[in-house]
Amino acid sequence: MELKDKSLLREQAYVNGQWVGAQSGQTFAVLNPATRQEMARVPLMSEPDAEAAVEAAEAAFASWRKTTAKERAGLLRRWYELMHAHLDDLALLMTLEQGKPLAEARGEVQYAASFVEWFAEEGKRAYGELIPTHKPDARILVNREPVGVVAAITPWNFPAAMITRKAAPALAAGCTFVCKPAEDTPLTALALAELAERAGIPAGVFNIVTGDPKALGSVMTGDARVRKLSFTGSTPVGKLLMAQCADTVKRVSLELGGNAPFIAFDDADLERALDGAMASKYRNTGQTCVCTNRFIVQAGIYDQFVEGLAKRVSDLKVGSGLEEGVQQGPLINQAAVDKVETHIEDAVAKGAQLVCGGKPHALGGTWFEPTVLRDVTPDMKVATEETFGPLAPVFRFTDEQEAVAMANATEYGLAAYFYSRDLGRCWRVGEALEYGMVGINEGIISTEVAPFGGVKASGLGREGARQGLEEYLECKYMLMGGI
Ligand code: ADP
Repeated sequence: MELKDKSLLREQAYVNGQWVGAQSGQTFAVLNPATRQEMARVPLMSEPDAEAAVEAAEAAFASWRKTTAKERAGLLRRWYELMHAHLDDLALLMTLEQGKPLAEARGEVQYAASFVEWFAEEGKRAYGELIPTHKPDARILVNREPVGVVAAITPWNFPAAMITRKAAPALAAGCTFVCKPAEDTPLTALALAELAERAGIPAGVFNIVTGDPKALGSVMTGDARVRKLSFTGSTPVGKLLMAQCADTVKRVSLELGGNAPFIAFDDADLERALDGAMASKYRNTGQTCVCTNRFIVQAGIYDQFVEGLAKRVSDLKVGSGLEEGVQQGPLINQAAVDKVETHIEDAVAKGAQLVCGGKPHALGGTWFEPTVLRDVTPDMKVATEETFGPLAPVFRFTDEQEAVAMANATEYGLAAYFYSRDLGRCWRVGEALEYGMVGINEGIISTEVAPFGGVKASGLGREGARQGLEEYLECKYMLMGGI
């Protein structure tokens, strides 16, 4: 399979409207996780390259902030339209570098583009306010101003959407943007830059630097010209970056790890719960921060739930993301496989039963058999650690209070799901869950129109929705006296 528009495969970084290499001249390989073969090389950038990008973004900010919201909306709209016009190519590129099934990659490109469309519209509504005065001869105004230069560090699991849901509100608000995509998936990011350029987004407004995470990250967090860091990735790296931002007192938004519980009560619609279970667990081969990490099932339906889940899981088609009908692609790398294996071994050693799957897939490489474990208990690693792979551990509970306590017994607080047909319980449990997002009788909750984000060690801030724009706006209070 080949790209229709070959110029979407860029092997240079995009800084100040130019396609550039690393100042050192070094590059690194991008691998296809399905074949482990090199598919491209991109610049291995470090500190001086990041500084150049920040300088460009700062210079561009001076004029970009002065454009009208309508002008910015027009450019973002064009960018959105180009993403749709090149949907097939963007999806193919994503499957090749990330491994997800082509149908999911297409879905992600549409999801990624939806943020650009939504914030193009919402940017026009960054209203200020006029506050009733405290003195007859004074007037109080509050204006909304762009934060300034924004740095973004993004992960490999959603190579397009994790960029646009930061870039779109930033640009719509009048900020300029420097992004370091994950080293596993820089090609989708660079294709987005190519389309941003074609859309007419001015030089320096949207920049992509590829390369050494620590070196680029040290500039993105340490340079005083950067006024905000938006990060999506693991909790340990998020904590580190937050600490690094302390010196220059930057604003930070963090979308970190999760340990999503999925509670099925005895009164759930079982079929619906099983459909939701599959969608929330096995999307992206279990590699999303909102993927269910723990199934917590009431004793009365426990056996039926496990049986129904195992049947659906055994039917999943595993293979190359390019093959028709494939639902489970390879994992991103060997470390991801090792983590799934460790969790299974630990659980089985402590008494869990393997219902299906359980080992690396016969296809080899980084494919893993979709797995279900039953009789899982809170002393096992899967109870507290995020697996980030195709493993469904099923815990058992007897009453509502116990279920809520189990669900909340984690340092994380991103997404939670539960299934019940009792209205009173839906309110009680929905309110008792210490999570930023709760799916009630629904396993897929991400959308550009709702605020995505977590509490506790899952992060700070929200992305998408009107709250997502706030993250890139500073409020300025002006008092006009002597009236
Ligand atoms: P994951 O488990 O999803 O790979 P990471 O937190 O390691 O999560 O990676 C998310 C992003 O953070 C990637 O772009 C990665 O390159 C970047 N990253 C990892 N370590 C650092 C670091 N020390 N400084 C800056 N960025 C980092």
